[in-house]
Amino acid sequence: ERLNNNFQFIEVGRCDPEKVAVTTRREEFGEIYKPFRKQEAASQSHRCLHCGNPYCEWKCPVHNYIPNWLQLVSEGNILKAAELCHQTNSLPEVCGRVCPQDRLCEGACTLNDGFGAVTIGSVEKYITDTAFALGWRPDLSKVEWTDYRVAVIGAGPAGLSCADVLARNGVKPVVYDRYPEIGGLLTFGIPEFKLEKHVMRTRREVFEGMGIEFRLGVDVGTDVAIEDMLKEYDAVFMGMGTYTYMKGGFPGEELPGVYEALPYLVSNVNRRLGFDSEDGRFINMKGQRVVVLGGGDTAMDCNRTAIRQQAASVTCAYRRDEANMPGSRKEVYNAKEEGVQFKFNRQPIAIIGEDRVEGVKVVQTQLGDPDENGRRRPEAVPGSEEVIPADAVLVAFGFRPSPSDWFDDQNVETDDGGRVMAPETSQYPYQTSNPKIFAGGDMVRGSDLVVTAVAEGRKAADGIMDYLDI
Ligand code: FAD
Ligand code: SF4
Repeated sequence: ERLNNNFQFIEVGRCDPEKVAVTTRREEFGEIYKPFRKQEAASQSHRCLHCGNPYCEWKCPVHNYIPNWLQLVSEGNILKAAELCHQTNSLPEVCGRVCPQDRLCEGACTLNDGFGAVTIGSVEKYITDTAFALGWRPDLSKVEWTDYRVAVIGAGPAGLSCADVLARNGVKPVVYDRYPEIGGLLTFGIPEFKLEKHVMRTRREVFEGMGIEFRLGVDVGTDVAIEDMLKEYDAVFMGMGTYTYMKGGFPGEELPGVYEALPYLVSNVNRRLGFDSEDGRFINMKGQRVVVLGGGDTAMDCNRTAIRQQAASVTCAYRRDEANMPGSRKEVYNAKEEGVQFKFNRQPIAIIGEDRVEGVKVVQTQLGDPDENGRRRPEAVPGSEEVIPADAVLVAFGFRPSPSDWFDDQNVETDDGGRVMAPETSQYPYQTSNPKIFAGGDMVRGSDLVVTAVAEGRKAADGIMDYLDI
């Protein structure tokens, strides 16, 4: 009877998966959302209206067949749903967890108009987690392997997704990464309270089962020469990310007690995974008054990691207002629940202190005219300076590309901002100025999202196959 009820969305409201209690979240690093139970996933999926022109699919960067797999879940057909999910997305269990759904699929759901969007992300996570637990694996038994071999540099979402599509089409991918585990920022960046580490371990086992080979702990350019790689393989895909930290450009950034966001997060991940940090340094905020500068996903992850490390207080200063924050709304809400204090409309102008950091001087801002991206520019209000006391400051202003020193020799062109030029619209999508080298993800578009890196890695694989004339 339930399956025939087209107005289920009125009777059954939107219901996110249950969250772990805040007191526990303030101490433990595990994922904060509990898994959907079977009945919850089915009834939430059944809220989908099948509205004919699903904007959710258009807004999703990989154009998932969302209404179709929601229907399969509402009918209890999880394995078929998992097959369908994997036709468009190489990492559905990851995207289901970390996409800013409120700005993407769920933001475009017709039910957003007063009823509450369908919980698309949580269902996507449920489908893959459940299918894997049931022993489901992608079926490559019909794949006819070609003799082509492609090297993939970077085991982040872009590289992994490129390798996934290549393997499904019979092209052997060999993925190199300088880190000891796959995932890129999914493993060494995004904290466990958003994405537990076993998720990528399972994914590695699944990819290896599909014939993807990983060569980890190998830095391309140092341990392997790119010239040799270009000789050995039929094509190369680069998904190497962006790792140059943006600076604030104000006094005091070099004071002891001021840390860059990513090394801080990575030192915490390494400590928890039992790996040594690159410089052997674990940065611990226990008992400290922490100020986090920035308003994106990275800033939010710093805030919430410091809370879990038992910081005395965590204050996040951001130069625009809450409505103009770039990160996921859901994660800002979660950070507030966990005890992070926000100071909106505050622009840092100096980090102060004698021998080490003692505070951050900020000035109040008001929003002026829109900038070139349409976001309103913050302008300082004269005479509104204040000092936020701090024992430690985490700088999370984002990342710029980090072009490799071999790009020039290999004729890989970058734009003025250092991004590799690999247009989607060229004859072979995502081909660089070196015809044998393709690229995608953050190093091409600038720091963005997991799902956009997935989308580009997949499209680049199509470009490579066109180029190889497969
Ligand atoms: P990366 O994930 O950076 O992977 C690049 C890989 O290349 C790395 O593993 C690196 O070791 C390897 N590599 C680089 N150079 C070499 C070399 N010379 N030799 C060998 N290997 C090399 N996005 C979301 O959608 N949701 C979120 O909640 C979210 N949270 C984030 C939180 C943090 C703290 C950060 C930093 C980012 C977050 N992002 C989030 C953004 C997202 O993680 C990135 O956009 C995405 O990982 C980019 O994928 P990529 O494959 O292009 O690069
Ligand atoms: Fe939504 Fe991201 Fe899944 Fe697309 S990949 S359906 S945007 S959660």
